[in-house]
Amino acid sequence: MRRAHIRGLAVAVAVTTAATGLAGTAFADSATGADQVSVSSSTAESVVEAARTAAFAHASATGVSQGDELHAQDVLVDPEGARHVRFVRTHQGMAVLGGDLVVHLTKKLSYDGVTRAADHKVRATARAAKLTAGQAEAKAASVAKGDAGSAHLVVDARDGASALAYEVRVTDSSTTEAGSRTVVIDALTGKVRSNTPDTDEFLSPQLIDTLRERGETLDPETGIGSESAGTGTPATGLTPNSAAVRYPVRATGTGRSLFAGKVTLTTTKTGPGKYLLKDPSRYGTETRDARGQEADSFSDGKKFTSTTNKWGNGATSSRASAAVDAQYGVAETLDFYKQTFGRKGIKNNGKAARAMVHWGNKVGNAFWDSRCGCMLYGDGDGEWFNKPLVVLDVTGHELTHGVVDATAKLEPTRVDARGNQYGEPGSLNESLADIFGSNVEFTAKNAKNPPNYLLGEKLGLDQGFLRRLDKPSLDVLEGAIDYWAPSTYDAEVHAGSGVSSHAYYLLAEGSGRKTIGSVTYNSPTYDGRSVTGIGRSKATKIYYRALTRYMVSTTDFHDARVATLKAAKALYGLNSTEYKAVNRSWAAVNVTAANTPAARH
Ligand SMILES: [Zn+2]
Repeated sequence: MRRAHIRGLAVAVAVTTAATGLAGTAFADSATGADQVSVSSSTAESVVEAARTAAFAHASATGVSQGDELHAQDVLVDPEGARHVRFVRTHQGMAVLGGDLVVHLTKKLSYDGVTRAADHKVRATARAAKLTAGQAEAKAASVAKGDAGSAHLVVDARDGASALAYEVRVTDSSTTEAGSRTVVIDALTGKVRSNTPDTDEFLSPQLIDTLRERGETLDPETGIGSESAGTGTPATGLTPNSAAVRYPVRATGTGRSLFAGKVTLTTTKTGPGKYLLKDPSRYGTETRDARGQEADSFSDGKKFTSTTNKWGNGATSSRASAAVDAQYGVAETLDFYKQTFGRKGIKNNGKAARAMVHWGNKVGNAFWDSRCGCMLYGDGDGEWFNKPLVVLDVTGHELTHGVVDATAKLEPTRVDARGNQYGEPGSLNESLADIFGSNVEFTAKNAKNPPNYLLGEKLGLDQGFLRRLDKPSLDVLEGAIDYWAPSTYDAEVHAGSGVSSHAYYLLAEGSGRKTIGSVTYNSPTYDGRSVTGIGRSKATKIYYRALTRYMVSTTDFHDARVATLKAAKALYGLNSTEYKAVNRSWAAVNVTAANTPAARH
């Protein structure tokens, strides 16, 4: 789970940041097919103002009411001309959970619709609180078993009505494997409205139980093909001129990873014979060593340095080997987003992505921590998972949670005491992480980690993969589902993710049996009718356009269908083959206009 809505309240107009990084020439703004147009900050401001005015002028459609204030979080200008402003909301100065909305404008800045998380108007007054902040803090500390920070009043609009509530961050929670929790307590009744971990863990508590019950021990093969060339993107330009070297400068090193073979890494030369595992061509993206501590601040990590610019030895005997996988995986993920959509960093703000390896003591998991903006990788618990969880598609999956966090911020509808998440928006979040995570492999084109539509195929699981997009139900460990049913509304999120992952695969590749690369797929359909794919590239563009423009924190599978249809319409037109294929792909997983449930939010 990702940290709730408060963090985004500052006005962050990401598109206006000149994302040059330390030495941005490798990322000159020449990405073909970029999904957005860069605009000046004054243009972005005028778009935000037009969207805010339109939101109040069309209050019956947008649900914005008196006492609301809209804070722009993202401004996106489509190459085709439309503009979109994502807002979070405060009501009488209190943050509104589930109050997010995207206002759509035409090229001429006239109102062109809204995508909103809550279907109702926000009403609440701080004077109504019956609990004190101190009582809320005590309650939060007791349910999350940790140290409560200070409680502040919010309006919880996530559940079909507005409720006055306290939001409390609880650190050092013994009920979560990493990081902290955010607890929302009803300010009138004292009831716990939600209690969610602030980090997203790759392996759910439920899956870990299943693996233990089955007695599966994971010891995936490492050090593979250490002589083969990986395809880390070589640095271009800025070769230091020996006559006048000014440190730090960009350097090109080599790494021997645990899982991806030998790879090229762009590093920083800090002085003669001194190198740092930090990539100036990718916004200063860096990996550090958490030294077995549960460090929650990146500055607590120890820098990886080298005198030779050679990193790791393909085995866990070198502390740098896992760091090579992490740094390589983060770089490849950033490259996928940059090359495919023109997205500059996880938050599209030209800032570094960061990773810490050797995180915690005997931790068999990997996490995205949105507060830290960090990937955290444990070394394995030494019991059932014996290696660091640093494979490429795990990194692509987890960093995509960071992208979702910076865009639609899809939230589970329910989290149980152990941290298992439930509900369609959370399932959609997991699915997007798998979709884009597997796309990272296609961009990386690493022969030691061949691209495919499988997730976690290098983890050494008996079933050969953790999840797969073509026929999700082949994942028996998590019980993933192929088709939507009313019960999907409350499915565990990794199980539920199968619905949209399957729809995406059908859109990209079509139904039936086929071999792509070295993997044979056989994707079924709900109605038995075949689906013809439009190719991975177009399908991926449609899903990214849908995520960034037409999804909000409460988007469910039927909303996602509408979101991808809108994206296909914007990209390819209403009468296009692509638009029709999107519609077919959702029908093939039993998500149709006809079976749309009554509004739930
Ligand atoms: Zn996930």
